[in-house]
Amino acid sequence: METIPKHTPILFIGAGPTTIGACYRLRDLKYEDYFVIEAGDQFGGLSRSYLDDKGFTWDLGGHVQFSHYKEFDNAMDEALETEGWLHHQRESWVWIQDQFVPYPFQYNFHLLSKDTIHNCLEGLKNRSNERNPNHFKDWLHQQFGKGLCDLFMFPYNFKVWAHPPELMNHEWISERVATIDISRIEENIKTHKLDVSWGPNATFRFPSVGGTGQIWKNLGKKIIQNRVSFNTKVVNISAKFKVATLSNGQQISFDKIFSTMPIDKLCKMIEDEDFAKVAQQSKSLPHSSTHVIGIGLKGQPSKELAGKCWMYFPEDHSPYYRITLFSQYSPKNVPNPDENFSLMLEVSESPHKPVSKSLIEECINALLKDKLIESKEQIVSKWSTRLEYGYPVPGLGRTEIIKDCHEKLQSYDIYSRGRFGHWHYEVSNQDHSFMQGHEWVDMIFNNKKEVTLWNK
Ligand SMILES: Cc1cc2nc3c(=O)[nH]c(=O)nc-3n(C[C@H](O)[C@H](O)[C@H](O)COP(=O)(O)OP(=O)(O)OC[C@H]3O[C@@H](n4cnc5c(N)ncnc54)[C@H](O)[C@@H]3O)c2cc1C
Repeated sequence: METIPKHTPILFIGAGPTTIGACYRLRDLKYEDYFVIEAGDQFGGLSRSYLDDKGFTWDLGGHVQFSHYKEFDNAMDEALETEGWLHHQRESWVWIQDQFVPYPFQYNFHLLSKDTIHNCLEGLKNRSNERNPNHFKDWLHQQFGKGLCDLFMFPYNFKVWAHPPELMNHEWISERVATIDISRIEENIKTHKLDVSWGPNATFRFPSVGGTGQIWKNLGKKIIQNRVSFNTKVVNISAKFKVATLSNGQQISFDKIFSTMPIDKLCKMIEDEDFAKVAQQSKSLPHSSTHVIGIGLKGQPSKELAGKCWMYFPEDHSPYYRITLFSQYSPKNVPNPDENFSLMLEVSESPHKPVSKSLIEECINALLKDKLIESKEQIVSKWSTRLEYGYPVPGLGRTEIIKDCHEKLQSYDIYSRGRFGHWHYEVSNQDHSFMQGHEWVDMIFNNKKEVTLWNK
């Protein structure tokens, strides 16, 4: 085990993509005077991967890279050699009314029954002209109309977020989605065109061995090296005295903290009275938990399933909202690609949407009903985990709460960044997280603006 220093100028909490992004930039600046405390036993955080005892590899939910940054791409090139990557088209589908419809759903519902097409089109034509949503539910309604909302948008979004859409804001999505083009939809209905979201440029790359976790393991080892202590938690912080207490009882003093743990837990563990208000405020930030269920199978995917990357499931009978055909991402994700394939299921949970005690059995029954597997006898491995913090739900008032927390924390040289450190879903993928770390270093050392943080 690495010796933990008594003092460090920068104390990092967590060794996931956000911290690795910061340390990557620190390496450019030839700055090594920092230390990382990580509760888990490996680099990568939510972007870790696991090998189960039957030889199947699993990510913590389908991880696809949608990089928007040169710096992130360079880091990926460094993480794995060229031959360490496989390239795929992003083929995503919706399973509804016993058939697959290409994503985006709103441009392809013409594959469904006449009644369904009629309802969706009527809903779109009869949308009110108002464009002043109070929350996400209003926004969906104003954008897509009643037919599409009842059929897909409402049930699907509840399954993903595990929160009613009227408790969510709409800012996270409204600036990013193009207004709907009814003439394009009508043309698709007339010509029966499959209007797909993938094409020659919609590709992603995935590690050939070891899942997404391999990227962060390699980068962490290369960059952070031995300036990290695994299986150690930060359990208490005195902001005034600049001392953190660890789960092994040790104390470490710091000049600055860069934290990637959930911001509500961070505010709660700071003992100073001054933090009581933000600790209380951050308690109301909603999150969903995620169950990841890996089903390792004998045989090959059906003709219908083969070639697909991931699929969305809006209907009630299935607990899962998304399934990834994970063996499609790399043949090495299964013990023997000639004999096996694998499906990775994601199920959300929250107090608004509890899950059943027999979740795995329910999932398997739904896989049979959805014709994704032929029989239970095909199953050779069942792997599962529950992530308490899965999705940072964009609740009402979220931005103001986060601003208040940042202001208080930063007044004591404590910076909270990353998927749950900043709690902004729209900038919480691996590339955003990595860049939040990278840009923080440039803000501290070079006085530059952090642009990813507020998506501006
Ligand atoms: C179901 C799911 C699907 C996803 N799909 C995608 C995708 O398709 N594409 C994509 O790019 N991204 C995806 N992501 C997001 C990706 O996982 C995150 O962007 C990334 O892992 C965030 O990195 P982070 O460093 O901010 O936080 P995390 O990965 O959460 O890392 C934080 C680390 O802090 C540690 N920690 C917490 N508390 C303490 C403590 N008290 N002391 C010490 N250490 C502590 C944790 O153990 C953890 O390792 C997905 C995430 C989930 C859950």
